[in-house]
Amino acid sequence: MEKRVRVRFAPSPTGGLHMGGVRTALFNYLFAKKHGGDFILRIEDTDQTRFVDGAEQYIIDALTWCGIKPNEGVGFGDGPYAPYRQSERKELGIYKKYADQLIAGGHAYYAFDTEEELNAMRERLTAAKVVAPQYNAVTRQNMRNSLTLSEDEVKRLLDEGAPHVVRLKVPRNEEIRFHDIIRGWVVVNSTQVDDKVLLKSDGMPTYHLAHIVDDIEMKISHAVRGEEWLPSAPAHILIYRYLGLENDMPKLAHLPLILNPDGNGKISKRESRFPVFPLSWSDPRDKSSYLGYKEAGYYPEAFVNVLALLGWNPGNNEEIFTLEQLGNLFEFERVNKSGAKFDPEKAKWFNQQYLRKKTDEELADAFTPILESKGLKKDRAFIVEFCRLIKEKAHFVNEFYDLGTYFFVAPTGYDEKVIAKKWNAQSKEQYTKLRTVFAGISAWDTHTLHDTFNAAQTDLGKLDMQLLRVLTSGVAGGPQLFDMLAMLGKDEVLARLDAALNKLS
Ligand code: GLU
Repeated sequence: MEKRVRVRFAPSPTGGLHMGGVRTALFNYLFAKKHGGDFILRIEDTDQTRFVDGAEQYIIDALTWCGIKPNEGVGFGDGPYAPYRQSERKELGIYKKYADQLIAGGHAYYAFDTEEELNAMRERLTAAKVVAPQYNAVTRQNMRNSLTLSEDEVKRLLDEGAPHVVRLKVPRNEEIRFHDIIRGWVVVNSTQVDDKVLLKSDGMPTYHLAHIVDDIEMKISHAVRGEEWLPSAPAHILIYRYLGLENDMPKLAHLPLILNPDGNGKISKRESRFPVFPLSWSDPRDKSSYLGYKEAGYYPEAFVNVLALLGWNPGNNEEIFTLEQLGNLFEFERVNKSGAKFDPEKAKWFNQQYLRKKTDEELADAFTPILESKGLKKDRAFIVEFCRLIKEKAHFVNEFYDLGTYFFVAPTGYDEKVIAKKWNAQSKEQYTKLRTVFAGISAWDTHTLHDTFNAAQTDLGKLDMQLLRVLTSGVAGGPQLFDMLAMLGKDEVLARLDAALNKLS
């Protein structure tokens, strides 16, 4: 019988989430949705030295913002396998229990080496031109561990409480084979694998041991994570094997790296930043990541859509998907092995597609506080109409104001290129007369303005729409001219024409 699908996102609370992490969470979530399974948030906080205050809440908030909500786990309600924080799970004694089992089976051992002794070993190996010095089947023979020391000595050290770690005893020169849903069969020689620390001297498990124990205890069916974990997978396979759990272990899926737009490197830290709000990190390392995709004005639906296509494809050319649609479509068969390029320009395009789906009323709701933050006020109808006109050009609501500042404040300068090209000896007289014609309009609306402008040319000679735009807005392009003039209102347009005619000679 197939196991019930239970997947987990298992971040370490060491700082802000990055795009890759959120994508991992998303793919887990979608896979669970597709199979009617569970999606769990587990906090892997066993590395006390890298713990960052606030990071856990930040992870919860980021997932909530994206709408990718776990149905079990820290911050989202306990399920049957609580607690979901590894620091709390340690109190259950489970990690030690599994480590003891490995030791008893002869697959793990105590190592008493000090930091100095480990450094000296690395220096020795480097001097002997060993490319990647590591604690392994060969080097462990010259170190202070329960494989080299006498039984009595080991017992004495343990009784004394001498600082020690527990290491995995990786065999020499053995082929380790495992299957990855995305990559197929992977074969690694154990010579490449070091004797990983399983329990640290403070009694905390390392990631390698802890995630295995928890995946087993929490009945996880699939471990879905970033490619950076692929190199440690062979060690994990050995641990499962030595625990007699190879048949119970989750299926593995290592997601492709996220690359920069050229595809010639990993995406930069800056570009992958993902804060959902500025946090007062106690950790100065994260100060640079205050600005994230939420702050940049992305809609969560748009950004989730972008993330879904980083490594996965629907098998056709469709690009716009809701979270629900993705949850019906997602399969690992359509996830690529090769790195996924992140294109920031395309990401903006996605946001634009979602922006265009919003009603003008919704856009006005979002824009009003921005306008107010500039100390400006307009009535609701004006703001709604402004949003209708300006949205075509924008990717984000936060661009509206810059794109249409002249709707709110009169111009102080006039597009120099247009003026140089189109403002000539007759212009002043011609547009002064047009001003007079406009002053006579009683029904100040788009159609009347348009018709009046056209008709005026019989008497005034050929008029230029772009020039009229520059005189009234200062800029060379924008939404439909007569819509804009209608919105600005008669008094304002006449005043702006006066100011321009005054300024331009
Ligand atoms: N704690 C690991 C991380 O921070 C989890 C890796 C895994 O999913 O197994 O990425």
